[in-house]
Amino acid sequence: MSALTDLTIAEARAGLSARRFSARELAAAHVEAMERAKDLNAYITPTPDKALEMAARSDARLAAGQAGALEGIPLAIKDLFCTEGTRTTAASRILDGFVPPYESTVTSRLWDAGAVMLGKTNLDEFAMGSSNMTSAFGGVKNPWRRRGDARDLVPGGSSGGSAAAVAARIAMGATATDTGGSIRQPAAFCGVVGIKPTYGRCSRWGIVAFASSLDQAGPIARDVRDTAIMLGAMAGHDAKDSTSVPRAVPDYEAALGRGVKGLRFGIPREYMLDGMPAEIARLWEQGIAWLREAGAEPVEISLPHTKYALPAYYIVAPAEASSNLARYDGVRFGTRVAGNSIEELYENTRGAGFGAEVRRRILIGTYVLSAGYYDAYYLKAQKVRALIARDFDEAYAKCDVVLTPTAPSAAFAMGEKMDDPVAMYLNDVFTVTVNLAGLPGISLPAGLSSDGLPLGLQLIGRAFDEETLFAASHVLERAAGFSARPGA
Ligand code: GLN
Repeated sequence: MSALTDLTIAEARAGLSARRFSARELAAAHVEAMERAKDLNAYITPTPDKALEMAARSDARLAAGQAGALEGIPLAIKDLFCTEGTRTTAASRILDGFVPPYESTVTSRLWDAGAVMLGKTNLDEFAMGSSNMTSAFGGVKNPWRRRGDARDLVPGGSSGGSAAAVAARIAMGATATDTGGSIRQPAAFCGVVGIKPTYGRCSRWGIVAFASSLDQAGPIARDVRDTAIMLGAMAGHDAKDSTSVPRAVPDYEAALGRGVKGLRFGIPREYMLDGMPAEIARLWEQGIAWLREAGAEPVEISLPHTKYALPAYYIVAPAEASSNLARYDGVRFGTRVAGNSIEELYENTRGAGFGAEVRRRILIGTYVLSAGYYDAYYLKAQKVRALIARDFDEAYAKCDVVLTPTAPSAAFAMGEKMDDPVAMYLNDVFTVTVNLAGLPGISLPAGLSSDGLPLGLQLIGRAFDEETLFAASHVLERAAGFSARPGA
């Protein structure tokens, strides 16, 4: 039998129910692997004791024939989800010492399904970034390296720890969040699968807020089936989040076998960027060919407002962030740096507690919301957002799903793009439109760059049509046969 840490969630589920190994053995194998892979810095807070305790309870339920959908499956949790009794940092110094007295809805659902928590994973501070380099706990190393080049690469961001942990086999799956690409871009950089569901599909309750109208939780795992299994457990209506949608959660795993015969997939001409690396363009062509061979029909579509998506996102997201982050004032949570007045306490605390990228976003957000600039920036961005959503509505009259690359490049080196925020923001050029329109998007590894790094393809669906994404990405996954592994 191969190492327990190499199994997919579906394989582990079968192995546990056939009693080939116990949940405790599975958890212990992961805890040991985490210890050996510490150098990646994928976890901010490993919780090995909790993992073994939860696994022992899973073994009891397995023995009693009461197994849940994720019984005994060891998962990593992005450290943006509040976990009762386990510190939650959002990778920020400002939350120093914060131990939530409650559990986020998404993680509660996972534990109710029997999953086991391995620990809390690293991320960009407050999920702001594309490299994981803005974390107050230091960057995460991508387990992949370029062929013949020993430099450490970023895992992408903001869910860099979650994607790296899954790729390095120190978690079978992980939770993540995506505001502008933070599930899909790190999944692409680390050669794993990540899906951002439709806005409203998963509850945001108990997740540290970045930009509330864009944030969505979703899973990262090593194959499409595993993300379908995880999303089925994470999704669903929650009365505690007024934006969560009261719709039944379909059987996502059952959708995998649907195939794509007769499906129309859109190729947006505006996504063929000038200067796009040839290998990204080639991968996209290859994806078109694979879907076509499986019986789907490509159609050219136009998403004319695409070029305004990044500028609109970098107004809307910072605006909402500046408002959400106002609560970190040194009075209610974490860090407190005293001053001679309440204003000084706020200033000192926020000055010491927030990193440079977070401060930049708060400044931008406060500026675009201020009297005199609100109409020129914020309101205008909201109008652009509506036009981007309308572009997709019109496209979906002609097609059922949209195929694009996930990111404009493979993983870059730690330290690259760090002094140029705008170059960093360009990482999300293919993913932000999806958040602005509230749609679901999945990224799957589909090939390797010339220097041996994973590259991702993205499928974008109609609202609440994650099933088509699972069906089509399953077809692409089989066609791509991606079997490369980091460190091989
Ligand atoms: N990279 C984008 C940003 O920095 C998206 C982050 C995210 O999706 N959380 O805002």
